[in-house]
Amino acid sequence: MQLLVLPGDGIGPEITAATLVTLCAASERFGLGLEIREDIVGHESLRRYGTTVRSEVLAAARAADGLLLGPASTFDFRDEAKGEINPSMFFRKNLDLFANIRPARTYDGFPGRAGTFDLVVVRENTEGFYADRNMAAGNGEILVTPDVAISLRRITRACCNRVARVAFELAARRRYRLTIVHKANVLKVGDGMFIEECRAVGREFAAVAVDDVIVDAMMAHVVRTPQRFDVIVTTNMFGDILSDLTAELSGSLGLGGSLNAGGDHAMAQAAHGSAPDIAGKNVANPFSLTLSAALLLAWHGRRRQIKPFETAAAAIEKAVAAAIAAHEVTPDIGGELGTRETGAALATRLARM
Ligand code: ATP
Repeated sequence: MQLLVLPGDGIGPEITAATLVTLCAASERFGLGLEIREDIVGHESLRRYGTTVRSEVLAAARAADGLLLGPASTFDFRDEAKGEINPSMFFRKNLDLFANIRPARTYDGFPGRAGTFDLVVVRENTEGFYADRNMAAGNGEILVTPDVAISLRRITRACCNRVARVAFELAARRRYRLTIVHKANVLKVGDGMFIEECRAVGREFAAVAVDDVIVDAMMAHVVRTPQRFDVIVTTNMFGDILSDLTAELSGSLGLGGSLNAGGDHAMAQAAHGSAPDIAGKNVANPFSLTLSAALLLAWHGRRRQIKPFETAAAAIEKAVAAAIAAHEVTPDIGGELGTRETGAALATRLARM
């Protein structure tokens, strides 16, 4: 498997280095033959090349079997004319990574904030309120006068349908339950269409039980009883917000693994941002990116029918669970290890499995 690695900004280089140590151990242990190529995006690329993402990097991402993207300082990148492109948006849009899969579960050894649970948020990734990707040309936000702004939200049947299919397929590999999260009481047309398409796809998955919940009520339900959920499918912005909540409920944002998947490409990317407040301190939790990388290995294994990749992915998840139970972790989840030491300990554990 050829993997393109882009460490990004803030804590990105630290959590990427720790993740690569684990991936190399997994490659050795399970005979994956991982070939890793590194390049740069974000601030370092802007300094060196005048753009946060070069076209050569996109070509390399297209040629690779998978992409590992560290967090980037998206808030700093405002003006595309100055080369300030949001790398996360750039790859999601250009590689058509339409489904963002964000699991959240609790672990023995570090109690979650709402009891034991295991769920997955499947978020539409290419349209909705995301003004930087929902138009063919231009931007979905318009400043009508200095005091009047309009933000456009795009919803299409095709995008609803394809993300719903990913969610139902996932539910059919898990506990056969799917919850549609929406705001169709207010966004009657757009979210009405989202529900319609989800229900239409659901008719092909008779074994999956489906319900739907309004997004504001969902915040209460997921805090009160996250155990009742298995797979949750929702539109772009609701999914972004909801999945930060579910990651934090599971213990820490630093446990939030995430895969951006399309038809032909996939990108592992932690659910959180570049966390500048803790960058360079060797305290960031690398498990978010490590678990994202495991999702990428599993995706590759399923798609190419190469069993050792799925075995390696399951082993990484098991090793993370065992490390948490043994408190071989970073301070955000109750440990005393640094980012580097957490990665090294996980790699050692994996090599022994
Ligand atoms: P950005 O602007 O890039 O999104 P941010 O700091 O606004 O960065 P996050 O990076 O998502 O947003 O961080 C939110 C909070 O969660 C911060 O307090 C941060 O320190 C913490 N956090 C995020 N990722 C991790 C991690 N991997 N390990 C530990 N804490 C984390």
